[in-house]
Amino acid sequence: MFDNLFKDAPAIPRAGDFKNDQGILICGKCRQARECLVNCPDGRTVKKHIRCQCDTEDEENYLRRKRHEEFQDRVAKLRRLGITDEAYTAQRFENDDGRNPDVTEKCKQYVAKWDKMREHYFGITFTGAVGGGKSFYACCIANALIDRGVKVLVTRLSDLVRNRVQDKGDFVKLRDFDLIVLDDIGIEGATQTAYNIVDDIYRANIPLIVTTNLSLSQLKESTSIEKQRIYDRILQRASYPIKVDVTISRLDIARKNAKKTQDILLNEENITKE
Ligand SMILES: [Zn+2]
Repeated sequence: MFDNLFKDAPAIPRAGDFKNDQGILICGKCRQARECLVNCPDGRTVKKHIRCQCDTEDEENYLRRKRHEEFQDRVAKLRRLGITDEAYTAQRFENDDGRNPDVTEKCKQYVAKWDKMREHYFGITFTGAVGGGKSFYACCIANALIDRGVKVLVTRLSDLVRNRVQDKGDFVKLRDFDLIVLDDIGIEGATQTAYNIVDDIYRANIPLIVTTNLSLSQLKESTSIEKQRIYDRILQRASYPIKVDVTISRLDIARKNAKKTQDILLNEENITKE
């Protein structure tokens, strides 16, 4: 786009530009020359368009904008590739209701220290009662890392098993991902395929984040050898346990409703002021 502007030809005047006493066009905005004189072999002197400060800044802004757009395209592609269940895409730190600040902080730290986590293949096991928000926190991490251009897959082990059994030639290439989130482990059957998938992730040194309604002791001491084999592998990668308790009480709801009411009242007041 910009290279075409600077061929051996005089600059096209813009509003505010003027000529100096040598007839050189000067930028009306930054007061730098927009042309220089070039001596030709045949003895002629011609004017050549050169960049003034504004042109350089425009070009830098253009390139910055282009790089930003390319990165956003990449992020959108990563999200389409890694998060197939649309419900997961809205689960982001921005939508956190702050019910569990300790858990939120740990999740944010995981994202902040991602390079170290990736290097050592460290992951997380989220346990706790139904409704506490285990999947929410796991997806917050996934979405925040995707925003940074990290290749994350969010899925269920049961879905991976089903896909691999149904379509042997074309299953998801787990090794392509930097982080895998398995939501709700424990509902899948303890099949050889389930073990193979978990083993693939383990051998590929990919950090693993899992959520489960099982307790940590149930994962560590399963009733069957087949299940234990799977959970042992998972816990080796999803090694850091975070318990997510259900803390939302009637009091919390009442407090939140009061806050919402106040927000509406204050906003309406602002509107009438304007
Ligand atoms: Zn200028």
